[in-house]
Amino acid sequence: MTENSFLQLTYEPALEALGDDYYDTVAAADFPQHILRFRNDDLLPKLGLQPDSVSDFDFVEAFGQFQQRSPLLALRYHGYQFGDYNTGLGDGRGFLYGQVRGTDGKLYDFGTKGSGTTPYSRNGDGRLTLKGGVREVLASEALHALGVNTSRCLSLVETGEQLWRGDEPSPTRASVMVRFSQSHIRFGTFERLHYLGRSDLMQPLLDHVIEVYYAHLLAVQDPQERYGQFYGELVQRVAQLAAQWMSVGFCHAVLNTDNMSITGESFDYGPYAFMDQFDPRFTAAYFDYGRRYSYGNQPRICEWNLAMLQKPLKLIMSGDALETGLTTYRQHYYTAYKRRMLAKLGFEELLPELGDELLRLTLELLESTPIGYHDFFTDLTGQFSEAWSEGPGHILQATAQTSDDDAATLLQAWRLHYHSCLSTLSAPEVGQVGQCLRQHNPVTVLLRPKIEAIWEPIVVENNWQPFHTLLTQLQHPFSP
Ligand code: AMP
Ligand code: MG
Repeated sequence: MTENSFLQLTYEPALEALGDDYYDTVAAADFPQHILRFRNDDLLPKLGLQPDSVSDFDFVEAFGQFQQRSPLLALRYHGYQFGDYNTGLGDGRGFLYGQVRGTDGKLYDFGTKGSGTTPYSRNGDGRLTLKGGVREVLASEALHALGVNTSRCLSLVETGEQLWRGDEPSPTRASVMVRFSQSHIRFGTFERLHYLGRSDLMQPLLDHVIEVYYAHLLAVQDPQERYGQFYGELVQRVAQLAAQWMSVGFCHAVLNTDNMSITGESFDYGPYAFMDQFDPRFTAAYFDYGRRYSYGNQPRICEWNLAMLQKPLKLIMSGDALETGLTTYRQHYYTAYKRRMLAKLGFEELLPELGDELLRLTLELLESTPIGYHDFFTDLTGQFSEAWSEGPGHILQATAQTSDDDAATLLQAWRLHYHSCLSTLSAPEVGQVGQCLRQHNPVTVLLRPKIEAIWEPIVVENNWQPFHTLLTQLQHPFSP
């Protein structure tokens, strides 16, 4: 009998070692079928595995049947959901399968979604629809390729069950997914301890987080100083994450504090969407009536979530250090957002004032014209010519025109300023603008119709080819 590659890995029970105040031991559901629909071979080298030596059956045994080396842990957590504190959370359809050290030295979690009920399932069935699984695979691969700090999917197994859902034609097919992420620990993990008054459990959790995910801070001798630096770094990581989402036009849709990783990594892709037209009010979740998690609100909401995290952290650290940490959020956000947006506009370096003005004018233009967010950058990339530096007249002539006088004026002002920016560059630097545009503007964007277009053949004729074709395009977004 050959040994299963995944069961052979060395598991490090870091979270389990914290003790059972933080989780419940659970069992996986027994599924009628296990059909491997997606395996992420790209991740295997990170686990020290060669794709050729890992069989589909290895995936199915470990991540469909859940043969295991360590106990399966459903994490306990609370969280602010749409602004209201909810104590009824926790892993309701997933568990931590195991933790392994990557070849990069980092500790990674295999977390499941759709693996059965747990003490936190409430009235839910503990399951994941196949479409939900397909959507998360697509989102995380697309975001990763665009440079967003995100969890990835390691596998997606169709389970042969039928599910009923209000937001999908039902019955609908079921799946179980394994997520490969930096950590299962969320802001809500800390919030729960605060709510329960368990300050005794707060410090072990924070020390654990720092030891595993902020290990460079162990060099800071004074614990208060170390905790302060941890929060400051988390603020920076979250600000950068928000900037990454905003620049790629992504709306996460459910930024509850139980969906905020303590490592600053993006994860949990439910009703997300990449927006088509630039619209700060664009809201991806149909049930988000107040537009709390609209595209444009994301940076503010992340800041609010960080502010809420101060409540539990205050039990073991100084409120002043936390306040100071949070004051850096907006600057970190703007710096990261500006850098990414200027790169999408073709500029790796630009005088600060020129860059600020180019960003401001670009956003104003995008908001007032009917052109799509991604279409604008695609036009810019496709039409760019070094001759643009000779005068503003030829810049972006073929982009969607508007009969609106105000928008036409804005476009004209934008052209003039874009030309001023080009004028500050040397001839070789102008030559690099085209390359910069191609390197930062994806050819394929995961807009909603693209998802529906690959889903249809799966439903109608169980044809997975369009899904794999799209996936390959998303994984190589900058090659035409
Ligand atoms: P989410 O909005 O996906 O982050 O989930 C919020 C909470 O609801 C988490 O505690 C989930 O585990 C739980 N949950 C979501 N869907 C289900 C389901 N089908 N069955 C059980 N629990 C669920
Ligand atoms: Mg969640």
